[in-house]
Amino acid sequence: MKYHALVPSFDANGAGLETRPGLGEVEAAVRTIIRWAGDDPQRAGLIDTPTRVARALEELFAGYGADPAVILQKTFEETEGYDEMIVLRGIPFISHCEHHLAPIVGRAWVAYLPRGRVVGISKLARVVEAYAKRLQIQERLTAQIANVIDDVLQPQGVGVIVKASHHCMTTRGVHKPGTDLVTSRMLGCFRTDPLTRHEFLSMVQ
Ligand SMILES: [Zn+2]
Repeated sequence: MKYHALVPSFDANGAGLETRPGLGEVEAAVRTIIRWAGDDPQRAGLIDTPTRVARALEELFAGYGADPAVILQKTFEETEGYDEMIVLRGIPFISHCEHHLAPIVGRAWVAYLPRGRVVGISKLARVVEAYAKRLQIQERLTAQIANVIDDVLQPQGVGVIVKASHHCMTTRGVHKPGTDLVTSRMLGCFRTDPLTRHEFLSMVQ
């Protein structure tokens, strides 16, 4: 089963996860929540719900089974000396906040100024997804994306901007729909060179 093929090798902080509960335990937990809410997990409409929820969670937290550094490993060096900014704009993602397990729905803008080596553009999107499909806070998500690109590609600089709405505050709690949170991390020339930073910011809408 696909669920068992996903063996997480690290958590959000890079520490090892030793014991992972089985799918059956997740389904039992969902039945507990249904009973706690006041409904009957045995009635026809709910009987398959725990299995569906477990499958959905498997997909939403698939990032624990992905290693962003490995995703960025394969690079291209035959770039004819290309040394201008590379920007992937508005990468959509869905993450979950670690405080409420509520969705964080947003977009990421990822840019770097290469130093010889470039990476396939789909890899940048996969890095965003690998970190998003974990329990997160937006600040750490933003920093992790920038840091791994900086570590693996060793470019002249990296810029990451994330804009997202947090369902823990838009659909419950203080109920402020329409708000979004903007976070950024600038490394290397994106931090030190105002022109580079400005060029990147001008591409973010
Ligand atoms: Zn939250």
